[in-house]
Order: sequence, then structure tokens, then C-alpha cells
Amino acid sequence: MAAAIGEYKWEVKVPEKKLKDKLYFENLKTVVVDTELCSRCLTCVSICPGGLTVSEEDIVDFPDYETKCLDCGACVRVCPRFDYEPKSGMGDYSAFIAGRSKRFAGQDGAMVTELIVSAMEMGVIDRGLFAGRDENWATEMFHVRDPEQLAITTLGGTKYTFADVMPELKKAVRFTKSGVGVVGTPCIVSGVRKLQEEYPIFREKVKLVVGLFCTENFHYNEISQYLKDKGVDFSKLVKTDITMGKFIATMTDGEVKFKVKALEEILPSGCNVCTDFTAVEADVSVGSVGSAAGFSTVAVRNATAGKVIAYIKKKGYADFGDADPAQLGFLVGHKKKRAANIGT
Ligand SMILES: Cc1cc2nc3c(=O)[nH]c(=O)nc-3n(C[C@H](O)[C@H](O)[C@H](O)COP(=O)(O)OP(=O)(O)OC[C@H]3O[C@@H](n4cnc5c(N)ncnc54)[C@H](O)[C@@H]3O)c2cc1C
Repeated sequence: MAAAIGEYKWEVKVPEKKLKDKLYFENLKTVVVDTELCSRCLTCVSICPGGLTVSEEDIVDFPDYETKCLDCGACVRVCPRFDYEPKSGMGDYSAFIAGRSKRFAGQDGAMVTELIVSAMEMGVIDRGLFAGRDENWATEMFHVRDPEQLAITTLGGTKYTFADVMPELKKAVRFTKSGVGVVGTPCIVSGVRKLQEEYPIFREKVKLVVGLFCTENFHYNEISQYLKDKGVDFSKLVKTDITMGKFIATMTDGEVKFKVKALEEILPSGCNVCTDFTAVEADVSVGSVGSAAGFSTVAVRNATAGKVIAYIKKKGYADFGDADPAQLGFLVGHKKKRAANIGT
């Protein structure tokens, strides 16, 4: 798409329409949403200048698109699944280690929190985007700008429900001076990379991308109803975890535990097709599997992340040990097999 007004000229490469006589939103809907490829990363929603949004059912939607879609193609430019090239495997890494923060508590070894706060101390970033939660465990985005904000204990830890990371990232790149650190599941990481490919502000301002290992995530309405039916009382819920094939909801007065396989009935279709367990496109990926209980497994993928880890070591902010990449083999393979079995 090329255009010129007066002396200004610009040129933007927009993916070819697969449905030639349709609007770009109709292309996105037909190719990604209706085929159930959509991961609900919300990269398209974050960038659309029209009215792209999510419906009450948590599905990407555009009410009144016939009159409101500008047909600019921004949505398909940034959608990681429009010309989908599935990622998988362990990705490149220069170090594969176990870490446990001495300063913070988290889901595992709180290394995600440690990486973000240390990058902030180093001046690499001036804010980190965290997915916190409300009292009913619905996610809420926070810009952490000062470690003291981490007194809000709900900012760390895993929420097995989608978070609106990308719309918040769009705000963050406008507010930041030195840079933004962003945390997300592999689909979010892919969305960030697409935004960086397409828009200079995201290249300039997103300085640290922390990917989380991920087998699956869930729509809030579905997982919360499921957990309530299983007897989970959200007012007493302190931690959710998926480990060794079990979903464990830990409450102040007990726990509810069941086979994670039971959640297949509410597994979002976009997770079903995903083959990226380790967030191969991140600067640094962090997960649970691969190291001892209480530690986070950390795959350092580039120099920026390497410098933050070196800083954490120099400051003595964390204990480090060995992690075993072979332990990830099962989940890496599981995601590939699950995607390959769709429709069989
Ligand atoms: C949906 C999901 C599925 C996962 N599945 C696996 C798995 O199968 N195997 C495995 O080894 N690890 C998995 N993880 C990663 C694991 O649960 C921990 O997040 C990871 O080990 C980091 O722990 P930590 O103590 O270092 O993080 P902490 O220091 O506790 O920080 C956790 C960070 O995760 C962010 N976060 C929490 N929930 C979300 C969310 N829904 N969306 C975006 N950001 C979020 C928080 O904002 C925080 O920044 C998953 C994480 C998520 C969110």
C-alpha cells in the first residue's frame, strides 16, 4: 500500500488479501478467527485504529466493521497467525539454568520478577508489565515501576487465564522513557515480535521480552466456572498450578486437585494448534519444568538477557543451579502431537 499527501510519502507492506474483494478485518476473521487459529493474543486489538475488540465470549470481534473498518490492514500485519509459521522446540539459548530469587516470592523461583526488577535497576527499562488479578482471579494488567509495588503479592504467580498484555503494551511504549519489559506466554511473545517488525516504536521501546513456558491457557469465564464447579472458593484461593499432569488449586484451607486432561473440554482452539512450549522468540524464557521445586528454569536467549542475569549474579540477588533441558522434551513433544492430532 503506497500513498502520498503533498510532500510526504510513505509505503507500508500489507499482506496480500486472501479474500480479494473483502475488507482486511473480514480476511482476519475468515483466515484466523473462524478457522479457530486465533490465540487471543490481542495484538490486532492493540493496534486497530477502528473498533476491533473482544466479544463477551472472549473472541476477537469487530461490531459494525462494515462502516468502521478502515481497511488499513494493520490487524493482518501484526497477527502472528495470519501467515502462520508455527514455532517449536527449545529455541536458541546461551545458558540453561535454574534460579531462585532471594528477594521475591513467585510461582516457582520468582526469576521472572527478578529479571524485570533487575532490568529496572540497571536502567534498561523503567517499567515491567505484570498480569495481576482481582479477587475473582480475573487478570488485570499493571505497570510495575518501582519494586515496592510488588508488595501487591498478586502480581507474581501464574494465572491460567488470558491477560490483556498487548493493549497495555501499546500504552506502555508511549509512556516509557528508557524502555518496557514485557512478560507473556509464547503467543504474546510472537505478537510482540510482530509489532516490532512492523512498528519502530515497539523496536525502540520494548527492551526485554520474558517468555513463559506454556502448555495451555484458558478463557476466564470457562476456567472460573470449571473451578467453581470443582469446589474452588476464589475468596480462599492463593495459588493455581499445573504440575505432573495435575491442576492444583491451593486454598487457605485445603486444595482441589484434578487431572489436567479433564480441562480438554475447555481448551481454547488457539492453544490446541500451538506448538511453541518454550517461547522460542523471547529474549529469555522462564518456566517451572526442568529444575528443582522452588526454582525457575531460565533459558537465556540473547545478550540483553545475558547482561541482566550477569547483574543478578554480581549483586547476589538469586541462587543459581543446574537445569535439565531434557525434562522439557515431553511437553515440547506433547504440544506438537496435540496440534498434529487436530481433526483426527
Ligand atoms: C498460562 C500459563 C501456562 C504455563 N504453563 C507452563 C507449563 O506447562 N510448564 C511450565 O514449566 N511452566 C508453565 N508456565 C510458567 C510457570 O507457571 C511460571 O510462570 C514460570 O515458571 C515463572 O515462574 P516465576 O516464579 O519465575 O515467576 P513469577 O516471578 O511468579 O512471575 C510470574 C509472571 O508471570 C506473569 N503472568 C502470570 N500469569 C500470566 C498470564 N496469564 N499471562 C501473562 N503473564 C502472566 C506475571 O505477571 C508475572 O510477571 C505457565 C505460565 C502461564 C501464565
